[in-house]
Amino acid sequence: MSAKDYLEKDYYSILGVAKDADEPTLKKKYRKLARELHPDTNKEKGAEDKFKAVSEAYDVLSDPKKRTEYDQMRTYGASAGGFSGGGFDPRNAQGQSGFNVNLEDVLGGFNLGDLFGGGGRKQQRARRGSDLETEVSISFNDCLEGTTLPLTLRGQTTCTNCKGSGAKPGTNPKKCAACNGSGQTMRNAGGFGFADTCAACYGTGRIIEQKDSNCNGTGIVNETRTITARIPAGIKTNSKLRLKGKGEPGGRGGEPGDLIVNVIVKEDEIFFRDGDNVRITVPIRFDEAVFGAQIAVPVPAGTTVTLKIPAHTQNGRTFRVKNEGMSNTSGGKGDLLVKVEIAVPQNISGNAKDLLTEFANEVTHDNPRAEIIALNARRKR
Ligand SMILES: [Zn+2]
Ligand SMILES: [Zn+2]
Repeated sequence: MSAKDYLEKDYYSILGVAKDADEPTLKKKYRKLARELHPDTNKEKGAEDKFKAVSEAYDVLSDPKKRTEYDQMRTYGASAGGFSGGGFDPRNAQGQSGFNVNLEDVLGGFNLGDLFGGGGRKQQRARRGSDLETEVSISFNDCLEGTTLPLTLRGQTTCTNCKGSGAKPGTNPKKCAACNGSGQTMRNAGGFGFADTCAACYGTGRIIEQKDSNCNGTGIVNETRTITARIPAGIKTNSKLRLKGKGEPGGRGGEPGDLIVNVIVKEDEIFFRDGDNVRITVPIRFDEAVFGAQIAVPVPAGTTVTLKIPAHTQNGRTFRVKNEGMSNTSGGKGDLLVKVEIAVPQNISGNAKDLLTEFANEVTHDNPRAEIIALNARRKR
């Protein structure tokens, strides 16, 4: 800066502070403006010039000696005693022209990249891979015992040849000497430090001397991969299985994401899932219901069990067969719930028809609806 700068520039209004603003106010105001205008984040036209102006203003006003000089100059003009000659030296002690603010100091020792986002250390930090999601349908049968399914996935995956390091097997990536492994280099511009992505290692902080040929040094390959998923017995439909580390590979040595498998259990033709229990509806004949019977009932395993139907069994009654249901994921087993339904014959042979007619004549005065008709009659007024 020169004496001319001092005369022409209103540093107070550039920073938007009062003439008597104290040091903490100046610092607060400057921090705010520096963040807004920093060229690393603000790409608007003129932002960089404003940033420089703001920094220059702060440089002068934050230094008590310079601020006094500036105030006097603004009050009395360039001819004020002591300023027209060698009294004012715009150069600092190191002989560099320009202002001399340590931005990191002002900003409270924060890393520039952290403050301004992008271009900083954040970018080169190990990044966990994304979770991937897929869906599989399994049959009721597979659900009974649990199953192992191959899942075919297309996409990026960690290179198995180098285990994701990108270095030829048997060699290791070296720490980048240009940035000392940090992935960024500092550039000085007008007394300010700017963080740049290291050109030697592209911000990774590592140098691979001998690339793995399988992934060309990236540690990542694009491929169709088949992984095996173990589906536990008794899994409920729409359950999500999380296969750890089977998702997208991580960046810069970061952990891979997980694979989320949404499991759909298809409906069965004869069995109906009810939690750990399994339901089935079994037709029985009228005479079986009346006299009782021992009937064969299908169980999910594909075989049958014998179920004893007691005499005088009403239609729709449910019987429980212990431990013939679905295995649950904690090792237990549900029951088979058998609902009996009296089947009405569609065809009836001559002899059976005669016998049934004889039966009907025999029970004609036995009206099964008598009770509800009597109950209903009480409603009548
Ligand atoms: Zn590789
Ligand atoms: Zn580097």
